Formats: sequence, structure tokens, C-alpha cells
Amino acid sequence: MARKKHIPQRMCIVCRVRFDKKDLTRVVKQKEKDAQNASDKQKEKDVQKASDKQKDTQKVAHKIIVDESQKADGRGAYICKKAECYEILVKQKRLNRSFSADVPSDVYTELGKQLGSK
Ligand SMILES: [Zn+2]
Repeated sequence: MARKKHIPQRMCIVCRVRFDKKDLTRVVKQKEKDAQNASDKQKEKDVQKASDKQKDTQKVAHKIIVDESQKADGRGAYICKKAECYEILVKQKRLNRSFSADVPSDVYTELGKQLGSK
């Protein structure tokens, strides 16, 4: 057998148990810049420029995504694959707490898909 590799470990934000990083799903909070460019292009079709400018000033300065590659920049939070952890995560909105931010419900939905598919 090959010699034992060091496997990075991370803590599940719900049960606070440490797991191998690969056994956790990572959610990451990123700066809004990149996301904004992408969505602006789509919006341009039917939204007036004037109203876009107003929105920009009110926009939050970040976005939160499920990081499938586990390599995205930004502040990460990890969740293990236990169904009960996901339940608590959703019920108590743990991600909101973890990131001190409003996490859109589709992030939770996406996370559920990720956890269910592996
Ligand atoms: Zn857990």
C-alpha cells in the first residue's frame, strides 16, 4: 500500500465533527463583482439602465454558492452528509449565521441536491 497521505480535515458547521475535506460539501461566500458582471448581461435585455444603477448601490457585496470544486476563493463553510445536519442547517439557517449574511434559499436547495447525490 502507498504511504499514508495527509488528508485535510474540516469541521461540519452543524455537528462540529471533523471529517475529511472530501467528505464534506463546501459552501463559499464570494465577493459580488464576478457574479454581477454575469447577471448584468442577462438583465440588459429588459431592464432599464437607470433602475440598474439604483439597484447596484443597494446590492449586497457578496454572493454565496455551493462550491463543488472546493477550490473557489472566499470564506468557506462545510457541511457533512448526515441528513440530520442538513435538516438543522436549513431549520436554523446555520449558513446565515456562519457567513453573517442572508443566504438565499436556493443555496440551501442546491446544497440539499449535492448532499443527496453523493
Ligand atoms: Zn454534520
